[in-house]
This record gives sequence, structure tokens and C-alpha cells, in this order.
Amino acid sequence: MHEVVGNLHIHSHYSDGRGSIADIAVQAEKAALDFVIITDHNTLQGKHKGEEAYYGNVLVLIGMEVNTEAHHYLALGVEHEVPENDDDPQQVINEVNRQQGWGGIAHPFEKGSPLYRNSLCFPWTDWGVSGFQGIEIWNYLSQWKDSIHTIPQGIYRLFFPHSAFRAACQPALEQWDIYLQKGEKVLAFGGSDAHDVKVKCKTWLPSFTISSYQKCFRSITTHLLLSNALTGRFEHDASLIYESLHRGCSWTAYDYFQSSRGFQFYMQSPAAIAQMGERIALHKNLEAHIYTPARAEVHLYHDGKLWDKSHGKQHVFTNIQSGVYRVEVWHRVRGIKRAWIYSNPIWVS
Ligand SMILES: [Zn+2]
Ligand SMILES: [Zn+2]
Repeated sequence: MHEVVGNLHIHSHYSDGRGSIADIAVQAEKAALDFVIITDHNTLQGKHKGEEAYYGNVLVLIGMEVNTEAHHYLALGVEHEVPENDDDPQQVINEVNRQQGWGGIAHPFEKGSPLYRNSLCFPWTDWGVSGFQGIEIWNYLSQWKDSIHTIPQGIYRLFFPHSAFRAACQPALEQWDIYLQKGEKVLAFGGSDAHDVKVKCKTWLPSFTISSYQKCFRSITTHLLLSNALTGRFEHDASLIYESLHRGCSWTAYDYFQSSRGFQFYMQSPAAIAQMGERIALHKNLEAHIYTPARAEVHLYHDGKLWDKSHGKQHVFTNIQSGVYRVEVWHRVRGIKRAWIYSNPIWVS
């Protein structure tokens, strides 16, 4: 397996982001990312202009974020603009599937900040939908905004943005678990929603940037394990990335304080081995193996409930039952407990 690190859910100047596609690629390379997927609001303009390409070592892919007032949906790997349908998001999901793309529900439980346009937010409220591939459990911009209720808090979050991200969005994790219980293959992913918006102050305060590409790219990342190594050939590598997104051999991490490169979660019996996103047959000697690149606290979830914990770098869990298992990894940064890694699940049946 070949690990790559990327960032999903990014806005460029083709919608309300600041940078060009090339600017974003430069920032991604600085942040040591292997790939980015740009998702402008209701447009694939960058793709139509032929700007999907390798920029140095960074593979830049272009999807879109569909819908305006509510039910924002990331449509990745699609060739044609997906028409918006704020009121009936199932139609949007179906169209992405018809184009054989990969679709993910964006910032589903966004609440907004009273300091920004009277708590303007774009949550997902229709949970009767099905057939989507992913759910965004951690969104940088949404969570940052949601965490600001007063002006002093806003100033604090400008200087100490990481204080807003102690863990992923709990309601999104719970909703994800509900879909997993229903037996649907729904995968978790993290998004930055980077817009790199510069805010100019009229007062003595200096201007500042909200959701800067650089800060976002170093924070909430998506790691994929590819079946083959990237080759530098655009078409080949783009399909490897999409294939891996569909497979779900991936995890979401907050990499700012400690890179999660090298993380592993697999299940093994004398008869078979399964990676994240895969299914394995129940066996009396089935074990869950987890490796964390630094000492950490590992939480193993079974059917949506915390099942067992372990400390250290190498973690082995036995007595595995049938159901769906996922892993959360927590660590301490300057004495404060923070979520670090959220794995995609392995199904045991
Ligand atoms: Zn959105
Ligand atoms: Zn967005």
C-alpha cells in the first residue's frame, strides 16, 4: 500500500476563494501534500479550463460543491456540472452517482457564529437520503466559525486557531455511525473548506486571513492508502486517488502537531486480512491491529459504541465480534487532550 496525504474541500477564485488553482498548488506543495481536490461552489470552471494537472509534485483535482442555501454536497470525479437542488438533495446524490463520481455530505451540522451574518450556516437536514459515499466529520472553516460566540473569543481564535479543533464534529460522527449501523458503506473524510479570505479592518487592527490555505492544509488532512504508487502521469494517478476514495482505505487526521503518516488499522485472521473500507469473515482468532506513529490513546468503536481502549504505539485487540469497527486516536499536546486520527471502518461478518 502506498500512502498519500491530501486536502479536500477547497475554494478558489472560481467561486468565493481568493487564490488561483496555481496559487493553491503552491501552498499545497509548501504544506507537503501529495494531492488536493478543489471544490468551488456550483462550478467546474477550473476543470473546463484544463487546470487539473500536476503542479510540481502536487496532483490537483477539481470537483465541485453543489447547492447554495442548504445541503452542500461535494461532487468529486464528475465531468459535468451537477445541477443544484437545495430542497431535494437526493437528486444531487443520484446525479453524482449517475456520473460515477464520489459524493460527500459537507459540514452537515454547521451552526454558524452570531458574529458572522447573524449565524448564517448551511447544514444538512434531510437524513432520509441514501446512496452517498462520504460524510465530512471535520471541517476547518465550519468548526472555526461555530466556535466563536463573542468578540474576545473571535480574537482568541485568530491568534490560537487550533483551540477550535480539539475533536471532530460529534453530531457528524453519530450520524455516520447511524448509517454504518444501517449497513451502508459511508466513509468519513475531513475537509478544510479553505477560502483564504483576507479581512481588512477599518480600525487600528491589522488585516487578517480566515481559513488560509497554508493553515488549513497543515491541519485537517485525508490520508489514502493506494493500491499502486503514484507515477506522475495525471490520468493514471487521478483514477488511483478516486479508486482509493471509493474503497475507503483512508483516514482523517489533525496533522498540525504530529503527522499521522504511517498509521495502520487492519484486521487479521489466519485466513484473511482486511484494510479500512474492507470486509472480513468472522473467525475465532480474528484480531484488530493498530499502529500509531507516536504513543497515543486508541479507542476502538464497535457498532457505534466505544468497545475498548489501548495506550502506546502498537495496539492489538482480540475477541472481535461481527459488526462494524472504527478507530479514534487521541493524544496530548501541551497537556491538552486532542483527537488526532479517525479511521474508516472495517466490517466483520
Ligand atoms: Zn459549504
Ligand atoms: Zn465549501
